[in-house]
Amino acid sequence: MEEILRVEHLHKKYDDLGVLEDVSLSVHKGEVIAIIGPSGCGKSTFLRCLNGLEDIQDGRVILHDEIINPCDDVKKLQKSREKIGMVFQSYDLFPHKTILQNVTLAPVKVQKRDKAEVEAEAMELLTRVGLESKKSNYPRQLSGGQKQRVAIVRALIMHPEILLLDEITAALDTEMVREVLEVVLSLAKEGRTMIIVTHELQFARAVADRVIFMDGGNIVEEGAPDEFFDHPRTERTRKFLDNERFTVTEQPS
Ligand code: ADP
Ligand code: MG
Repeated sequence: MEEILRVEHLHKKYDDLGVLEDVSLSVHKGEVIAIIGPSGCGKSTFLRCLNGLEDIQDGRVILHDEIINPCDDVKKLQKSREKIGMVFQSYDLFPHKTILQNVTLAPVKVQKRDKAEVEAEAMELLTRVGLESKKSNYPRQLSGGQKQRVAIVRALIMHPEILLLDEITAALDTEMVREVLEVVLSLAKEGRTMIIVTHELQFARAVADRVIFMDGGNIVEEGAPDEFFDHPRTERTRKFLDNERFTVTEQPS
């Protein structure tokens, strides 16, 4: 499969704090990569470096044949951000705009697409995630799971080549986690290229073609999901997985 994105020897620091040290990764078209790892290990920072939301100290990020980070051409950066969609834990919807307006704003204003065409696509996507009846509502009138599905639609309508999902279910109650993960699973099935940071290990196993474990500023281990979860090769991965499983079984039933 065609390589879409390549990360070469990426180094990222916040002032004196080294967060990422020499991270390299290649992403192919249609591939779903799950990134797991302890809190604070740099997963969000890594995703943000991929679409140019963070500057980097060394290395580079290449989308197709273009270097998109480092990049000081604002127009080029804007273009590459459109190709790399991102969804966050916190939805970030505009509170004073309706769901339909939230979804159609960027394609009309930024991509200068035809409003009627964009609205038709927005309704198609909202229908797909079960929210067509909410088009005239405001974000505060929606549940967390519904808002997160809107945030996914808002990313999809830009026609990104890659979707980055950063712990998009972390703020949701169990029932809503499921409805959001089902949408992500359906995107994976239709061949979307995605990098998914998640604490949901079972979901990572089900959705991913490749699982990456990050710790201490680098990729410690990666592999096909079954191999990765059943036969972790490093002690650090084993410890992390044991700990996560323990945490899960400790929850009251
Ligand atoms: P993760 O997503 O894996 O939990 P983050 O990428 O959010 O980890 O954070 C990695 C490290 O970088 C943490 O030590 C965090 O405190 C630090 N960090 C994250 N964002 C910033 C920032 N904007 N300025 C300074 N330090 C930051
Ligand atoms: Mg994070």
